[in-house]
Amino acid sequence: MPTRSASIRFALGLSIAIPVLATPSLAQSLIPAPTPTFATSDTVIRRMWRVGMQESKVETLAQVLIDSIGPRLSGTSGFQSSVEWLERTYRGFGVPVRRHQYGTWRGWQQGATSAELIGPRHQNLEVELLAWSPGTPRSQPVDGDVVAIPALADTAAASAWIGTLRGKFVLISAPEIMCRAPQELARNASRAVAVQIDSQRAQVRRLAADRFRALAPAGSTPQNFTRAVHLRLDSAGVAGIVTTNWSNGWGVNKIFGATAPRVPTVDLSCEDYGLLHRLASNNQGPRMRLTADSRTAPAEVPMFNVIAELKGRELPNEYVVLSAHLDSWHGATGATDNGTGTITMLEAMRILKETYPNPRRTIVVGHWGSEEQGLNGSRSFVEDHPQVIDGLQAAFNQDNGTWRFETIEGQGFAKSGEHLGRWISMLPAVMSDSIKLQVPGPQANAGSDHSAFICKGAPAFRLQSPYDEYRQYTWHTNRDTYDKVVLPDLRNNATIAAMMAYAASEDPERLPRDKVTLYLPNGQPRAWPTCSTPQRTSTSYFNPPTTPPPPDER
Ligand SMILES: [Zn+2]
Repeated sequence: MPTRSASIRFALGLSIAIPVLATPSLAQSLIPAPTPTFATSDTVIRRMWRVGMQESKVETLAQVLIDSIGPRLSGTSGFQSSVEWLERTYRGFGVPVRRHQYGTWRGWQQGATSAELIGPRHQNLEVELLAWSPGTPRSQPVDGDVVAIPALADTAAASAWIGTLRGKFVLISAPEIMCRAPQELARNASRAVAVQIDSQRAQVRRLAADRFRALAPAGSTPQNFTRAVHLRLDSAGVAGIVTTNWSNGWGVNKIFGATAPRVPTVDLSCEDYGLLHRLASNNQGPRMRLTADSRTAPAEVPMFNVIAELKGRELPNEYVVLSAHLDSWHGATGATDNGTGTITMLEAMRILKETYPNPRRTIVVGHWGSEEQGLNGSRSFVEDHPQVIDGLQAAFNQDNGTWRFETIEGQGFAKSGEHLGRWISMLPAVMSDSIKLQVPGPQANAGSDHSAFICKGAPAFRLQSPYDEYRQYTWHTNRDTYDKVVLPDLRNNATIAAMMAYAASEDPERLPRDKVTLYLPNGQPRAWPTCSTPQRTSTSYFNPPTTPPPPDER
């Protein structure tokens, strides 16, 4: 057991050292990283290594955000708590911080959700209520038959079947015939068996999609029929809409938002859903009990970006932006999407404040709201702060999990290689050796906040970690939890973000905005992305144009 000395000072001025047991920590703990060989004699980079790699705060910060505050869905108290915590934390660091209220969102709070199979036998089911879904009436248990969509000959048959659904739970997703990760099938099955299972899976999915589409009201378009079916089931008075959104791994589902305004929509685990579907398809009379507690606020609630800033001493109107979204989905605790990005940028600002408090250019960090519903926070910031876009040297965004940075793409900026290369060359080799610079393109990964800047022609880059296992296991899933955080890599990434911000701030030159023409796989030139309007309220998100259900089902 490690011990430390505590010094007790007595009134006489005499002090003695007594051994005290250190608080035993059972959690993963960071050991200070040894001092590396530095690439340059730059003293700020050396101090950054010490503060970031030897005096890291990422473990404490990540644990509080991910475990204690938890999920940060737009419109929930979890999001609000994370805003307040960031403000307190920056004030503690001595970094000026403010809220940018850019809009509002539907206020929603989730309570307990449980589901059970109650016939033909009993079993607890693994369930998640989709975001912003209503709960069961008065949060009380609702029992109902469970039905799967049958083959329906025509629209009349579809209408007739929908007329039988009042008070029933309706399975609308394709059931999976196997919930093992595909890599397990590839590793363990013979080639012939793997091919057979894959083709059977494809066939089940096709059939289920056809049956689902048959429920769409006349006049639905390919863009809106999914939503139209949900509204039709809602109007038909079903007990609940039951989905599964398996993420191709053991026990992992992606959890998004609901469409139906009056009845609950839930996600069941891959195999629990498959069980209900087999029981229903084989006429074995499955019944389910659902209890779901949720509250929707009478009015929309305010949404914020949290903006912290170190003012530039020489070029205050030129900016380096550190960027990561703060909001998350709610099926788990948003650990890698985007708790780790949040902590990376928060810790980078702490390192900067301690080692480079008076930067040459202004360094701004943006913790964005509502990225998951369409980059709404960052797009609003860009609209509301044209001076930051005009004066932007570079923005660095992180939004894909926890492993160490391995790629920076040039995003189509012709001169990005020169500048990014220079900045990366200031890092110790132990950090820079694993970073691949791809310049001047591609501009392949549109799906995060850097694209709110790029569409304005302002240089924004992603500090990218590996994707594969992130996409399969943690991105938007019910398994995105604290245990997935790789603390040594998080510490590495935060220190790199601080060093890159420092290098970009000190660069004698501005990064030019010249663009190269990038090409699509078909050889056609790719158009530079255009900016979308942020959704500053949730009205259009929840009420996009759609086909109303037939009058008989209202
Ligand atoms: Zn994200």
